[in-house]
Amino acid sequence: MSEEACIFCDIVAGKVPCHKVYEDDRTLAFMDINPVAPGHVLVIPKTHYENLLGLTPGDLAAVHQTSQKIAGAIITGLKMPGVAVLQLNGKGANQVVMHYHVHLIPRNRPKDGIEILEWEPKPGNTRSIKSKLQKIQDAL
Ligand code: AMP
Ligand code: ZN
Repeated sequence: MSEEACIFCDIVAGKVPCHKVYEDDRTLAFMDINPVAPGHVLVIPKTHYENLLGLTPGDLAAVHQTSQKIAGAIITGLKMPGVAVLQLNGKGANQVVMHYHVHLIPRNRPKDGIEILEWEPKPGNTRSIKSKLQKIQDAL
């Protein structure tokens, strides 16, 4: 999706309203309108990038510095014992809005019952782990 047809670019431009948490020169943080848990915040770069792969180092650092700041405010302000930082890249990962964003999801497990953030660790197959490792390293 290009920036011309991007809901988050429209929010940055003030064409679409949002519940703003924080902004600085490079980043904007606002409440997610479909919160996975109460207090769910999104942090975005003001510049349009589709996903992690395209981000410049400066905007990558800026988004994660803002995420760190807001995560601390979620823990303190909402008196939550934890916050999950989630970030999806590509339709295969179920990214829906194609403007890079970080989800900050307040967590208080197991009470919150957010099943997507729970998984049972199962030992992997060593051959498969090594084969994926090789393919990832070959692509570096
Ligand atoms: P993702 O699946 O990572 O692309 O998630 C996109 C997120 O953006 C979802 O959690 C949506 O609820 C959220 N979202 C979409 N449109 C808006 C909007 N106008 N204001 C706030 N959050 C939005
Ligand atoms: Zn955009």
